[in-house]
Amino acid sequence: MAIIKVIKGTKDILPQDVEAWHRLEEKALEVFTKYGYKEIRTPIFEATELFARGVGDSTDIVNKEMYTFEKSERSLTLRPENTAGVVRAYIEHGFSRLPQPVKLWYKGPMFRYERPQAGRQRQFHQVGVEMFGTKEPSADAEVINLAVKYLNELGLDNLDIEINSLGCPECRKNYRAAIKEVLKPYLKDLCEDCNFRYEKNPLRILDCKVDSCKAIFEKEEIQKVILGDFICDECKEHFEKVKEYLTALQIPYTVNKLLVRGLDYYNRTVFEIKSNNLGSQNAVCGGGRYDSLVETLGGVQTPAVGWAMGLERLNSLISKPENERLDVFVVAENMTETFKIIEELRNAGFSAEFDYANRKFKKQLDKAAKSAKYALILMDDEINSGTVTLKNLDTSEQVNVSRSNYLENIK
Ligand code: ATP
Ligand code: MG
Repeated sequence: MAIIKVIKGTKDILPQDVEAWHRLEEKALEVFTKYGYKEIRTPIFEATELFARGVGDSTDIVNKEMYTFEKSERSLTLRPENTAGVVRAYIEHGFSRLPQPVKLWYKGPMFRYERPQAGRQRQFHQVGVEMFGTKEPSADAEVINLAVKYLNELGLDNLDIEINSLGCPECRKNYRAAIKEVLKPYLKDLCEDCNFRYEKNPLRILDCKVDSCKAIFEKEEIQKVILGDFICDECKEHFEKVKEYLTALQIPYTVNKLLVRGLDYYNRTVFEIKSNNLGSQNAVCGGGRYDSLVETLGGVQTPAVGWAMGLERLNSLISKPENERLDVFVVAENMTETFKIIEELRNAGFSAEFDYANRKFKKQLDKAAKSAKYALILMDDEINSGTVTLKNLDTSEQVNVSRSNYLENIK
């Protein structure tokens, strides 16, 4: 019979690697809580319409990357990202009536039908934050600060923080028109995706990763448009403030005018954090402001800003924690006695194991030395004298103590 294997682009997270994942998740809980964020968990599938409207039907995600299926004549999709789901929940549970800002974070698997490669999977994991209800540039600066803090706390500091302002829908109109104009003569040289974007979402062209497209953006007349000054005074002031606050927070950033981000919903500030220690998939975090998404999805107009981080990429950057050894291995002959004492140990909070096959003393002790910090020896001698022997498996030191207070000795 053919062996069934894991699906291409998905991965098992094996026991020896789970410790590293726990660390990312625990650090997220710790840091985000400190910054006033509350965790939210939304379903991993939603109505397809949510993403078509929320992420935007001119995006790669909606056009080619969604896992969509039908059930009871409804079109459903495995979430490719979590912002749309969080916004849906924000609206559905009337969070706009709570004191604002409402600060939420999430973690979990996301699904995108992409070409699998290092740092790119079809099921991958993200943590992310969303702050609703404030249009102030201080919110933009704070969410960027939080991303940097989280990465720093995980021991990462070789980071490139790139920011840009996309302006508001009004000022973007002029920019879009200028980009279309200047790119028009190059359409035949741009890739197929860029040709598609040209009609639907021309700014996304600037985000293209194809080398021959990137080379075209270097042309003088195109650079002039890219570096040009399109954003309106209000948007400009907002961006200046964001930069001022980042400087005050001592966050080093660069302005990258090519940064547009792949999703339709962003306006004003967008940002990406890259690590110099990753290969070509070097972005660990992406985010920005999305002031019209709540309204687009049927809620009251609510400004918002947030980001998402890829945990697989993050994991490949940080050193693996050592696998924990057991606290105690019980070495004994009598299974009834073993069960009594092992449960005492576990109830007292220690991790403890024993030999299910009840093999010879020497075999059990070998096993203990390989897997635990201490051996608790409970052979005939100990049972007769109402004691246990504790052996430190690093130093081989051993003590014989009374059965009634051995737990104190281990502690
Ligand atoms: P990229 O340009 O790398 O495709 P993106 O703009 O599609 O990223 P976002 O949707 O902003 O990414 O997601 C935020 C983060 O999630 C990324 O910076 C990355 O770390 C991670 N990520 C996105 N897609 C994948 C994937 N297919 N596999 C693993 N991680 C991913
Ligand atoms: Mg992508």
